[in-house]
Amino acid sequence: MGYSESFVEKMNEIVTDIRDGEKDFDIRVVAGFDEACSACPHKGETLCSGNVKSNDKVMGLDRRTIDHLGLKAGGVYKKSYLVALTAEKVEPDDLDQICAGCSWLEYGVCKEGIASLREG
Ligand code: SF4
Repeated sequence: MGYSESFVEKMNEIVTDIRDGEKDFDIRVVAGFDEACSACPHKGETLCSGNVKSNDKVMGLDRRTIDHLGLKAGGVYKKSYLVALTAEKVEPDDLDQICAGCSWLEYGVCKEGIASLREG
């Protein structure tokens, strides 16, 4: 859906590790560039440069996610803790507020993913 090959590859790598129940590792939670951004062609020097509003949009997504989960930006947490916390604290309809402005929201796949995570 318009993503570059390198970005899709990086996202697959990240998602595979997160879904692997045998693997646990530290994750640094950030408001700003993350590992996925490292493979994005729109990554600028200091800001997301997808379009004029991109940086504000992604910073809003990051901040609302961090606030909703009660995390600290810059904090390091185990993957297993973050997955369990998400299952406990995020309901599918919370994404309407947390993910406001994301073009994926209307497809419903993320709400389905949260519902499925909460069902175990
Ligand atoms: S709608 Fe999905 S892709 Fe968009 S910010 Fe939320 S979880 Fe991420």
